[in-house]
Amino acid sequence: MAGKVVIDAERCKGCGLCVAVCPKHSIEISTESNKNGYYPARATNVDCTGCSRCAVICPEGVIEVSREEASRIRAVAATIRTEAAGLVEKKG
Ligand code: SF4
Ligand code: SF4
Repeated sequence: MAGKVVIDAERCKGCGLCVAVCPKHSIEISTESNKNGYYPARATNVDCTGCSRCAVICPEGVIEVSREEASRIRAVAATIRTEAAGLVEKKG
């Protein structure tokens, strides 16, 4: 299951908790500071599973996690809806 993380770098305080907690080492600290002078976390998304540990531990609440699984479910649901609509049309 692939995941994707987006970090709001301008609101990040660079505490490094997300880096420490990520089991896949998919987050690093940037070498460039943000407008507040902090060195923010940066998601590489390499090997990210979407486990959400980083988002849960972030004291600033600036991490968003999405999972490929959710988009797959949406795609399957859309296909089922389309097929069901076709069946209803055929019946009528
Ligand atoms: S969601 Fe999990 S694997 Fe992905 S960056 Fe966050 S802690 Fe790491
Ligand atoms: S835990 Fe949050 S505030 Fe701390 S470095 Fe990571 S994104 Fe920034």
